[in-house]
Amino acid sequence: MNKPLTCRETTYLVISARDEALKREQLDALNAHLQTCSYCRVANAQFGALYAQLDALLARGVQP
Ligand SMILES: [Zn+2]
Repeated sequence: MNKPLTCRETTYLVISARDEALKREQLDALNAHLQTCSYCRVANAQFGALYAQLDALLARGVQP
């Protein structure tokens, strides 16, 4: 039985999903929250766009 996530926890999962694969129950809880919370849907989309921009910048790359 999963308890519902708060918006804060959802944001944390969205960010940490970037660095490591989420557990099945974390993904389920995240998706369940995104379906019911328009604020987190917007935040999730904005994080996605931000990370895409970061990846593009990093791919262009400063030489190490
Ligand atoms: Zn939310």
